[in-house]
Amino acid sequence: MQNSDEIWRLIDRHAPEFQDLSDRVWGMPELAYTEHRSCAEHTEMLRQQGFAVTEMVANIPTAVMGEAGQGGPVIAILGEYDALPGLSQVAGLPEKRELEAGGHGHGCGHNLLGSAALLAATAVKDYLAANNLPGRVRYYGCPAEEGGAAKGFMVRDGAFKDVDIAITWHPSSFSGIYEPVSLANTRIDFAFTGRSSHAATAPHLGRSALDAVELMNVGVNYMREHMPSDARIHYAYLDAGGIAPNVVQATAKVRYLIRARELPELQRLIARVRKIADGAALMTETTVKAQVISAVSNLLGNTPLEHALHANFTRLGPPPFDAADIATAQKFQATMTEEDIQSSYRRSGLPARTDEALCSAIIPIDAKGGGMNGSTDVGDVSWAVPLVQARGAVYAVGTPGHSWQLTAQGMLPAAHKGMVHVAKAMAGTAVDALADPTLVARAKEDHARRTAATPYVCPIPDDVRPPFTMSTAS
Ligand SMILES: [Zn+2]
Repeated sequence: MQNSDEIWRLIDRHAPEFQDLSDRVWGMPELAYTEHRSCAEHTEMLRQQGFAVTEMVANIPTAVMGEAGQGGPVIAILGEYDALPGLSQVAGLPEKRELEAGGHGHGCGHNLLGSAALLAATAVKDYLAANNLPGRVRYYGCPAEEGGAAKGFMVRDGAFKDVDIAITWHPSSFSGIYEPVSLANTRIDFAFTGRSSHAATAPHLGRSALDAVELMNVGVNYMREHMPSDARIHYAYLDAGGIAPNVVQATAKVRYLIRARELPELQRLIARVRKIADGAALMTETTVKAQVISAVSNLLGNTPLEHALHANFTRLGPPPFDAADIATAQKFQATMTEEDIQSSYRRSGLPARTDEALCSAIIPIDAKGGGMNGSTDVGDVSWAVPLVQARGAVYAVGTPGHSWQLTAQGMLPAAHKGMVHVAKAMAGTAVDALADPTLVARAKEDHARRTAATPYVCPIPDDVRPPFTMSTAS
């Protein structure tokens, strides 16, 4: 198809500068809502490429949007650039070695995610101009995917309200569309307040907030048996009430992360966890305050867009990995367990293989994997506008998510090839939507059908602001 050839040539022409951008962002790993340098790099690139730039999207300092073209439709391509704590790692080394002691690292590949999305948007911009076509392409630089739910705040603020379709991707070991299975989630802090006293001379005067947290955790752990099997609940202590065992702890705080298949189920689980917190407070004669920190929706699929994206992958074929890429990937696979590799295939929906360090297949459109069982703030955008999410093979099969192995592979030639490959699939899909207005119409119909029964309600309460200090507050 000629459209494909032209847009793919445009991608190839721009590829080196965007691979460099990805490498620069890899080298400045910044946590959720602190991505000032990474966002500046993306903003600068948008300007260089001639996009009209809007900074401070939804009043978030590290969110940026660039637009090019005239008229409609409006096609959004979404990128990210936040890193993870504790995943510093020497680039390219198949052995765990921190680059910076205790440092951050791109253990989810968001350096590639943002750069490939911006590369795709740039090629679509050039395509619109070269063919004198009506239509606008936007790149949204979205911060804080890792626990910050920035896209949810951006949706709540109306940042996508005039977008017709949205396209994004995530780094993976496989190429194809992402089966739209991700969990809705919410983070809630439960802060208990009791009364301190000398734990030996006046224990009867104390009311322990730490006891309350412990009882709450016990209660929730008993609840696990009686919740949907694909729901998830995790918790972490934010305040254990101090380090003195001879003081009855007057304050204690625990953060709960609750995940469920879809929003209504999530709301039911939240109500149950809140009851357990109230029960723990009652038992210990303490008080409890619950504060929602962030929340994301489950991901909605979109059949017409999935077919269009998949067709682009099929036309492209697998990423052009060579023997050297495969040899390097084999060294990384040697650091993984057989289970890492098998479960990676299982989740993808492909039959397991033992002879393929880098996947050379495109996942069939009807493959049924185990789903992500994680959560992503892309979910909220998918409730607001028709959205499709690609996955692009950029690292060895079996590489665990959020791992040093993933950080290490973020600048390898295979990652560079993979990001260009997925940029072609995304840009090709955008061009299909520009060439065929019925694709946008069908995507919208599909979206309307999926959201008709339960219209989107942003899971983030109106009074909750983005948790800008989540990465800096201890
Ligand atoms: Zn990620």
